[in-house]
Amino acid sequence: MTQRRITLLAGGVGGAKAAEGLMHSRYGQHATVIGNTGDDDRFHGLWVSPDLDTLVYSLADHIDRQRGWGRQHESYQTLNELKAYGEDSWMTLGDLDFATHIYRTNQLNQGKSLTQVTRSICRRFDISMPVLPATNDVVQTRIRFNNQWHSFQEYFVQHRCQPEIEAIDYQGIRQARITPEAEAAISRSDIILLAPSNPVVSLNVILAIPGVMDAIRNSQAYVLAISPFIGGKTVKGPADKMMHLLNASSDSQGVASVYQGLIDGLVIDKQDKDDALALRQQGLDVCVMPTLMSSLDDKIRVIEDALDSALAWSTQKEAC
Ligand code: GDP
Ligand code: CA
Repeated sequence: MTQRRITLLAGGVGGAKAAEGLMHSRYGQHATVIGNTGDDDRFHGLWVSPDLDTLVYSLADHIDRQRGWGRQHESYQTLNELKAYGEDSWMTLGDLDFATHIYRTNQLNQGKSLTQVTRSICRRFDISMPVLPATNDVVQTRIRFNNQWHSFQEYFVQHRCQPEIEAIDYQGIRQARITPEAEAAISRSDIILLAPSNPVVSLNVILAIPGVMDAIRNSQAYVLAISPFIGGKTVKGPADKMMHLLNASSDSQGVASVYQGLIDGLVIDKQDKDDALALRQQGLDVCVMPTLMSSLDDKIRVIEDALDSALAWSTQKEAC
């Protein structure tokens, strides 16, 4: 076990793989995860936080491993009943999952913050590593296609990421504020790790919340990102169709350009090793390794190797 304090910024599926690797690694004891809440929305009157739930269900080993989201051993009686009433049922919420959303909504309605509710949900699942939203304020990713603005889940789930995206917006971001808990975690970090999450709709939402970038800049932390692209392709999800919205390519170069000025180092996949030289010439520390995380061992190996490298590089810098 090491005493170094690590903060992981994470979205859903790619974020949860990194979070699992972190929690089970020798860095897990002093680690915190900050999750994306830009995908949050109301369904059937209930507040759903898909990325926070993916993180928690994964860390608790209650996730449906095949899909990478939702609960294991899930059933859909409630959703089918709602469908019979003529309600929309394209957002697949299972019976077990519904309990989380009922609990969250009830607690929020009683005046609890999303940070407090997420802490209670973690406690119910025996997760001791803190999982924090970056903000308690509502920030929602909106996506314009077919000349109209839509919610993120309409694009992602209802339309299966098929429509061509015209524009993207993080609604509510200007009025939002980082939570004291997220700010404290970032401020005292030795290493801030950006998970191999979607840069456009997962990590950029966290980074754009007022106070987050200031907290990172004011910290002494070494900032390392893991690229979500392998051989110029996503492992899962639409990140490759979105990078152009940030004027970036869907590869490790694009990731470096999106996080330019923020990261000190970048982990890229072995398949992209030819990018290393150019990235190093841009002043980045570059670590090349197999980054596909399938088993728990893969997840631990990627995270420990990434953090070991970050630690070595940050020590070198201190010595200079
Ligand atoms: P979402 O919120 O569920 O879309 O998940 P994230 O934003 O956290 O992560 C999506 C990204 O994770 C995609 O761009 C994938 O390419 C990336 N990803 C998923 N699994 C892996 C993996 O094993 N290795 C790497 N390097 N990237 C991964
Ligand atoms: Ca997400």
